[in-house]
Amino acid sequence: MPTASPLIKLDAVSKHFGEFQALKQVSLEVKRGEKVVICGPSGSGKSTLIRCVNRLEAHESGTIVIDGIKLDENPQNMRKIRSKVGMVFQQFNLFPHLTVLENLMLGPVRARKLSADKARETALTYLGRVRIPEQADKYPRQLSGGQQQRVAIARSLCMEPEILLFDEPTSALDPEMINEVLDVMVELADSGMTMICVTHEMGFAKKVADKMIFMDHGEIVEEATPKKFFAAPESQRCQDFLEKIL
Ligand code: ADP
Ligand code: MG
Repeated sequence: MPTASPLIKLDAVSKHFGEFQALKQVSLEVKRGEKVVICGPSGSGKSTLIRCVNRLEAHESGTIVIDGIKLDENPQNMRKIRSKVGMVFQQFNLFPHLTVLENLMLGPVRARKLSADKARETALTYLGRVRIPEQADKYPRQLSGGQQQRVAIARSLCMEPEILLFDEPTSALDPEMINEVLDVMVELADSGMTMICVTHEMGFAKKVADKMIFMDHGEIVEEATPKKFFAAPESQRCQDFLEKIL
């Protein structure tokens, strides 16, 4: 269950790409254990927002504090925060020349300085969690898209993050593979992981979200419990969007 102090706190975060303002004074709090689902039209700033949370993009004003650490140009802070925050992308970004097991061992050996034996043990544990332990010695190209995405999730878990960010993790998948990935995400949510998920899978959102967010033109337009969000969104823009996707 979420506790009182926010694990993630964004306050008036803004970001431009050249002249274009991708984020306009975005504020958001996420408590430990909370699951936030973000939706909104293409180009509304969803990816930029979550990329700012692990500083794949640097915000230019406002503050981001994660587990009490301020995310800024201080490299030590950035390293600490990166070790707490995992990310799963639309494209799985696995190394094609490494086996599944090797893909999973890489981060723990390099960044967490685990021994090869310990890293292998960790990798096999999480591969079991995403229910494909038998794929350990295959190469990514030998796996289906759904299996590859589950490997990518296991790879994030091998870093033992406190927070997982998902950026449209099922939108590159064939429809028949979407549920196997969502099922793993639901299990993660049930295990108490703090999650921010950008997704338009509203069935998933209804199952796990503590908080729904709708973004448009770089702003959070609507923030509500799923119950309120789906029954009676306040803004016309959100209503129109939901009508299109539901
Ligand atoms: P979403 O994930 O909601 O589709 P993004 O956060 O990816 O939206 O992008 C928001 C806006 O910022 C878009 O108009 C996009 O073209 C622009 N944008 C994103 N990344 C960059 C970048 N690296 N350089 C220039 N413009 C960018
Ligand atoms: Mg995006």
